[in-house]
Amino acid sequence: MLSGTASRIKNYPQLKAQLERHLDETRRQADMVRRCIERRGTSTSRVKDTAAKLVAIGQVLSGLFVGDEIVKASLGTYVFEHMEIGSYRILIATAEVLGDTETKLVCEQILREEENMARWLEENFPSVTKQYLDREQTPGVTAKH
Ligand code: FE
Repeated sequence: MLSGTASRIKNYPQLKAQLERHLDETRRQADMVRRCIERRGTSTSRVKDTAAKLVAIGQVLSGLFVGDEIVKASLGTYVFEHMEIGSYRILIATAEVLGDTETKLVCEQILREEENMARWLEENFPSVTKQYLDREQTPGVTAKH
């Protein structure tokens, strides 16, 4: 979802760069989570089931803005980051109950990155919206992405 959105953006370099930074973080996070799952020896079918549901939600959210304007792309990403924030809080609580300190620490680190990304989007809604509206008012200029 992040890579699709980032690659479509042409005229909003700050948002594009931020999405690409978070994409790198997300790939690192995936490796960290994978190591936690392997260490615990969790049944992969259950993990795959949950992952498939998250992917489906991501697809619904990206469907909101495929080929559509930048403001909706920011909003869809913001919604997804909050789903991640909620998910990591649940995982942290679960790891606490299980006494799995290492998984808890990994999830806390990822949670901070997700919160930072959500905060960045939140702080940049006004500038992205103003840039979009400016471009839309300018003849011969593309506003959408
Ligand atoms: Fe994220």
